[in-house]
Amino acid sequence: MKCGICKAEMEEKNVTYTEDNDQSVIVIRHVPAKVCTECGNTWYSGTVAKELEKIMDSFMASVFAEVSVISYAKSVA
Ligand SMILES: [Zn+2]
Repeated sequence: MKCGICKAEMEEKNVTYTEDNDQSVIVIRHVPAKVCTECGNTWYSGTVAKELEKIMDSFMASVFAEVSVISYAKSVA
């Protein structure tokens, strides 16, 4: 697929997704995504985006650490 911003080719990569809110920073590693080779634009498939949301929700509710590092593969499996 092509990048929605600059139309360059996108490649499949595992990326690190970071969510930063007032209370805490959640880092999810090894998230499958497509990344633009030109501008670095990152795109998540619908399935991955949903899983990320689920992981966020459960962590927001249960974890009060300032920084949480999660592995995507382990959370989904
Ligand atoms: Zn691009």
